Amino acid sequence: MKNLSCDFVICGGGIVGLTIAHQLLERRISQKIIILEKEYDLGMHTSGRNSGVLHAGIYYKPNSLKAKVCIPGSIRLKEWIKEKGLTINNCGKLIIPQRINLDPQLDTLFARAIENDAKVEMIDEKEIKKLVPQANITSGRAIWSPNTSVVNPLEIINELACSIQESGAKILKGIESWKLDKTKSSICLKDGSIIKFGHFINASGLQSDRVAHEFDIGREYKIIPFKGLYWKVREESFLDIKVNLYPVPDLNVPFLGVHFTPNNLKNLISIGPTALPALGRENYKFFEKIELRNAISDLSFLINQYKKNSDGFRKYVNDQAFLGMPFLFLKAAQELIPNIKYNDIELSKKVGLRAQLFNLNTKKIVNDFLCINGSNSTHVLNSISPAFTASFALADFIIDNYLIKS
Ligand SMILES: Cc1cc2nc3c(=O)[nH]c(=O)nc-3n(C[C@H](O)[C@H](O)[C@H](O)COP(=O)(O)OP(=O)(O)OC[C@H]3O[C@@H](n4cnc5c(N)ncnc54)[C@H](O)[C@@H]3O)c2cc1C
Repeated sequence: MKNLSCDFVICGGGIVGLTIAHQLLERRISQKIIILEKEYDLGMHTSGRNSGVLHAGIYYKPNSLKAKVCIPGSIRLKEWIKEKGLTINNCGKLIIPQRINLDPQLDTLFARAIENDAKVEMIDEKEIKKLVPQANITSGRAIWSPNTSVVNPLEIINELACSIQESGAKILKGIESWKLDKTKSSICLKDGSIIKFGHFINASGLQSDRVAHEFDIGREYKIIPFKGLYWKVREESFLDIKVNLYPVPDLNVPFLGVHFTPNNLKNLISIGPTALPALGRENYKFFEKIELRNAISDLSFLINQYKKNSDGFRKYVNDQAFLGMPFLFLKAAQELIPNIKYNDIELSKKVGLRAQLFNLNTKKIVNDFLCINGSNSTHVLNSISPAFTASFALADFIIDNYLIKS
């Protein structure tokens, strides 16, 4: 490849990188954009391996960045999906307290949703049964979110990639290693070619802290990956769930708990994901890509969190850290659908890894999205859920607050 120059290099061809490119093009800020993607296909990591739920803005702390961008992002993505004729299942979501003592949490969630301008209704037993006849009725109350939808993430990623390439952006795939020359604002690829950039945007998901460290940015932050295993309802099962069915989450940790997601397109109901310590950022199988030294330091960090019960970490461990064991996973699913049996479900091939950020100085989990600017670079860290839903609005936020100003 010959030497190139551009206004923006975007590192990472996931939903965050692609929507930033889309918005730079649509807003006519620049056409000289190069996206670097280390894989030969797009959507190989988190953006192609998630639940595909377009969230409706319920869970997030009011005034957080997540709360600001989730609803506008979801509205924009839905419009774009319609314009492109892509698939979407506007089926809504039911949030039920899986145990009677969790019922008061519904009021906290409901108040948050209202503050965030999310459309929600508190419904009673009769209405719950109409939506999911087999649902666990603990307190007779549940939250109904009519604006939650389910999409096909890979279809969206591929369509976005086509659309931005048609508008002039370049996507270079299979660029696994590159070297930064900070003084020359350029990177050198393995084949020796040089890409000069005006501004570098780090949207590299699970690797985003490592890429930021290359720029000497965000040294106090580290991603610890958590593995999301999915199960699915067998075709021959009695179970037919037409809406998303979620438990009441622990609002201290950013994992929403095992839930049921209907995907009408494939006639599939998926259950999950778990949130297990993953021992490697791309360790999708059991021991395929374990990063031993990192895994040891991640585990010792997590054990310390447990000992200090930092961020209510003990509750996460008790409720979620061992759901890799099938009988515990089934128990979590039975808290939503009591009649579901082991014979009704099977392990799915889908596995996703969450890029959860921790601050090593404060020893705290980072809950919100985090963007940090360098002199000619912007780093998107902690692009966890609902970054897929929020992506278009998050891209505009990044452009307005970090790119145009810088
Ligand atoms: C199990 C699970 C379920 C989820 N469910 C939902 C949901 O239902 N709804 C929702 O809104 N969100 C959900 N999320 C979150 C959502 O999937 C992510 O927030 C989003 O996909 C993050 O996108 P990204 O572009 O930052 O990362 P990615 O999709 O991981 O993209 C980053 C890209 O950067 C590339 N890359 C990395 N390093 C380099 C490098 N050095 N050079 C070049 N390229 C590089 C990678 O190959 C990758 O393609 C879920 C996440 C998980 C893990």
